Amino acid sequence: MPDFFSLRLRAETSGMHVSGAERLVPETEAAPVVAALLERSLARRAQRLVLTAERVDEGAIMEAPLLPVTTLELPGPLAIPCVGGGQGHGTRAGAAPDPEAGRRAAAGLLAAAGVVPTVAARALNWLAAGPGPGGRVMRGAVLADAETGERLEPDRARGVRVSRFDYHPAVRDAVGQALRKAGLAHFRVGEALAVASKVAAAPGAVAELCWSDDPAYTWGYVAAPVLGYVRLPLKSDGDPKGGRVFFLRRGQGRAAAPAPVPAPAPAPASAPAPVPAGDFSLDDYIRFLAAKPVLLRGPLSITTCREEDFYAGHALRMGRAR
Ligand code: AMP
Repeated sequence: MPDFFSLRLRAETSGMHVSGAERLVPETEAAPVVAALLERSLARRAQRLVLTAERVDEGAIMEAPLLPVTTLELPGPLAIPCVGGGQGHGTRAGAAPDPEAGRRAAAGLLAAAGVVPTVAARALNWLAAGPGPGGRVMRGAVLADAETGERLEPDRARGVRVSRFDYHPAVRDAVGQALRKAGLAHFRVGEALAVASKVAAAPGAVAELCWSDDPAYTWGYVAAPVLGYVRLPLKSDGDPKGGRVFFLRRGQGRAAAPAPVPAPAPAPASAPAPVPAGDFSLDDYIRFLAAKPVLLRGPLSITTCREEDFYAGHALRMGRAR
C-alpha cells in the first residue's frame, strides 16, 4: 500500500468554528480529496479555512470494523422513520419525526449500552442546551464518565475531536453504494458512521450520543459496541443546537464493557475490534480518538427495526442500567 495522508480542514467565521472535515486517504488520492474538501467549505462561505495535511506511516494504521446501521422505528403516528425515504435522510415523505419520542428512545439505548440512566438524561440536556460555554455548540465532543457523568474533556469550548480515520479504500465505494441503496445518501450519515465506528473501537468506549447542529438535519444516533449505530429522530426542524457526547468507562479495556449476546436479526454484522483489556488513562483515550490512524472496513449491515424488536434482537432490556 502507498503511504497515507491525514487531511483535516477547519472552517471558521469571526473566530467561530463553522465546520470541520477529516479524511485519511492514500497519497495518490490526496490532491482530489483536498479539492473536494475545499469546495465544500467554500460553498459555506467561511472566512478562514485551515487545512492540515500530514503523511501517515502505513505501519501505524489500525483497522476496525464498521458498526452495523439500524434505523429505529418508534411507536406513535408522528415517528415513522424508515429506510428508503425520499430525502436521503431515511424519512418517509410526509412523516414528522417526533424528537421527544426519539430522545426517550435514545435514553433507553444509552442505558442498555451501560450508561447510568441519570447520566444519559444529563447528556441529552447538554446537547439540547448547547454543550459549550454559554450554550454554544462545540467543535468536538463532550467526554463523559458513563457511571458518574463527570465531564472529562480538557477544554469545554473545543471538546475532543476525532481525527485520522476513514473508510478503507477497499470498501469506501461499496459503503457509499449500500448507504445510497438504503436511502441514506445524505453525506452526514456516511461521515457520522465513520466517526462512530472509530469511537466504538476505543479502549473504554461505552456509547456515543449525537445530533447535528445543522438546523435542517434532525436525525441523530446512539452508537455503542453492543448496539451498533442506531439512527433516530432527535431534534425539531430549525433547532441549531447539537453536538456529541462520548461515554467511557475509565481504567478498563473493552473486555470490561457489556458483552454482545449472540442475537437473531438484526445482529451486528461484525464483532467489535478486539481491544486488549487493561488499564488506560484518559490521555490514552483522547490520544486514540485524535491521533491513532484507523481505517474502517465492512461488511456493512443496514436494517430498519421497531424499537421493541431491536431490544429483543440484541437481548438487551430497555432502560437497563449496568
Ligand atoms: P455534525 O454532525 O457535523 O453537525 O456535528 C455535530 C457536532 O459533533 C459538532 O457540533 C461537534 O461538536 C461534534 N463533532 C463533529 N465532528 C466531530 C469529530 N470529528 N470529532 C468529535 N466531535 C465532532
